[in-house]
Amino acid sequence: MSKSLLRVALPVPLPTLFDYLPPKALRAEDCLPGMRVKVPFGRAGKIGVVMQHAGNSEFSVDRLRAAEALIDQQPLLQQEHLAFLQWAAGYYHHPVGEVVSAALPLRLRKQARALPLAETIYRVCIPPEEALAAVSRAPRQRALLQVLLDAPGGRMPDSRLRAFQEGISEPLRRLCDKGLVDAVEGEPQAMPFAPVAPGHVLNEEQQRAVAAVDAELGGFAAFLLEGVTGSGKTEVYLQLSAAVLEQGKSVMILVPEISLTPQLQQRFAERLGGAVSVLHSGMGEAERERAWQRVRLGLNRVVLGTRSLVLNPVADLGLIVVDEEHDTSFKQQDGFRYSARDLAVVRAQRADCPVVLGSATPSLESLRNVQTGRYQHLQLTERAGGAKPPRIDLLDIRDQPLQSGMSEPMLKELARTLQAGEQAMVFLNRRGFAPVLACYSCGWVSDCPRCDAHQTLHRSSNLLWCHHCGSQRRVPQVCPECGAADLHPLGQGTEQIESFLAGRFPDVPLIRVDRDATARKGSLDKLLSQVHESEAALLVGTQMLAKGHHFPRVTLVGVMDADGGLFSADFRATERMAQLLMQVAGRAGRGDRPGRVLIQTRYPEHPLLQTLVQRGYDAFAQAALSERSEAEFPPFAYQALLRAEANRQEPPVAFLQQVVDWIGTLSDAEVQLWGPVPAPMARRIGRFRAHLLIQAAARERLHPVLTQLQQHLAEWKEARKVRWSLDVDPADTY
Ligand code: ADP
Ligand code: ZN
Ligand code: ZN
Repeated sequence: MSKSLLRVALPVPLPTLFDYLPPKALRAEDCLPGMRVKVPFGRAGKIGVVMQHAGNSEFSVDRLRAAEALIDQQPLLQQEHLAFLQWAAGYYHHPVGEVVSAALPLRLRKQARALPLAETIYRVCIPPEEALAAVSRAPRQRALLQVLLDAPGGRMPDSRLRAFQEGISEPLRRLCDKGLVDAVEGEPQAMPFAPVAPGHVLNEEQQRAVAAVDAELGGFAAFLLEGVTGSGKTEVYLQLSAAVLEQGKSVMILVPEISLTPQLQQRFAERLGGAVSVLHSGMGEAERERAWQRVRLGLNRVVLGTRSLVLNPVADLGLIVVDEEHDTSFKQQDGFRYSARDLAVVRAQRADCPVVLGSATPSLESLRNVQTGRYQHLQLTERAGGAKPPRIDLLDIRDQPLQSGMSEPMLKELARTLQAGEQAMVFLNRRGFAPVLACYSCGWVSDCPRCDAHQTLHRSSNLLWCHHCGSQRRVPQVCPECGAADLHPLGQGTEQIESFLAGRFPDVPLIRVDRDATARKGSLDKLLSQVHESEAALLVGTQMLAKGHHFPRVTLVGVMDADGGLFSADFRATERMAQLLMQVAGRAGRGDRPGRVLIQTRYPEHPLLQTLVQRGYDAFAQAALSERSEAEFPPFAYQALLRAEANRQEPPVAFLQQVVDWIGTLSDAEVQLWGPVPAPMARRIGRFRAHLLIQAAARERLHPVLTQLQQHLAEWKEARKVRWSLDVDPADTY
């Protein structure tokens, strides 16, 4: 029987594909898998992706509707890629249509027509000497003109010109206005691999790492590249990328957050030339779509991006790198809750190419995979360029008088560092002025009206502000409860540390780096260049400071508070704390001067803190892994979290209890159930939340239950009384 039906993925929350007849006058063979079709669905119709052809449907053919139109002339997604997305939808038990949709740029999900890729090409249109003479007194125009003149044929496509230099819009417009340069439409051009700057000579460990991966190019292999901050991991990625480019293949590089790593971006562009393309959230939709297309077509062969890049089509994938693989931002926390790191490994497997997971502080999951032999372990134990590792000390603050949370020994060290003309960094992972405002007369505290959380005091904007739901109010002058003028901030945030240190060290430039201080576009860059230009300087900030940046003049890092992570209900909290502490510590002494790290704590004898400080991250990780093994927690067990929320308190728990009962009726279910219990933050944005943890010793036991559960929930009326979601391999239980 001929396969005359289309099976289409639609962005709707149902775990199925939808059957349609081909559009009028077309046959199924005209509508290839990976092409988009417009189909009747609901009132407005929807855009979907053809996944496969089918010979029959569970509906009778005369009841099936025809697709309205075929949109694409060529498949946007190749068969293997569709299979990968389908696999991901199956693994995460998420509706396949939403997963496929997530692989497309926003514009192509909503709009039929893809933007033309044809490019504007600029060329010098009068004799070179004349043109140069006409701009002799405009240095920027002259420089740009020279770039064009040096290019083959005196012409260059827009994208390559922009890859070369920033801020060319204005001089380019002038050159065109003066009639020296004109623009023509041309075919899209592949960006050549044209290294602009030479690489370093690799040290022995780096060489070994590059050789190990290089030997596996062309087939699947997984590597954990463990190297302290500054040990030259990026250098390894660069050299491997060059090797893959030489073979005419593409490289995908996943990073936690692009805006935090402009230096990384720049290094890639310098070393690999125009071949590098970057996908980030700051780009406009049209720009994103073009970049997506160029990578899909292999016009750019190196692509740098955040989590969602792992879902994108990439031509001839030859290598995947996940930098800072332990970073929690690789896990999507709503909707399609995938782990980009884990999908990267699966994707490499399916594409038959190596994957390199890099980190100074690898996740326990990856270290476990090294133990079991699934990943090869590559280590860089020394800092490249000879910088010494920092010395880390715990500072017992139990009997210390504190000023804005800061102990006298910490202040002394800061003063000493600044006097020596060096830079110091103070780290506190809490923005705002204080986490709570409280009334000393009646005990009122600044609770959020919609969440089980406090509103944070922000002095600069004079607001009480909930960091979970965004609710805000002006800071009251007197207590809203009893009217007493007795309101006091409790605890510290970065704003407070900043103002305290500004009073203490008035002559030193002081820069705060957190989400509030850097909310405006480009302001982070400005702050950072101020740091790079100063001698002595003080930096205060949240984990934004801990990520990626290189501050060669920082020799002292002060950590205000290490205790939050020691006693959390979340079993991953100590791992997170250790990673964050080591990342922050890694900011110290990267240049020629050794660094020092001081950690304030009330629990200096805590065994995990001791292990971390005395024996380093690896020893810590081994100890933490034994604990996990003992407790049968991941990575020694597999979990899924069923979350439910509603605007009343009872329905989520009642719903989850029914799920527990239902799973109990499955004869072959070999899973453990924990709950239902209220979520750690039981009320958030006005909604009541609860969850049920489903756990098993092996994936093969967990996943069949999840598959049945997903089907059951899709059909079960009771499930519509709550908003539920299934989180496979949850990263936290928030
Ligand atoms: P990581 O990614 O591990 O933090 P990087 O690759 O950024 O480390 O390297 C840290 C610093 O050392 C960078 O300034 C880099 O240019 C330099 N570097 C890296 N490898 C070498 C090398 N083999 N020789 C000299 N300097 C190097
Ligand atoms: Zn009061
Ligand atoms: Zn709130």
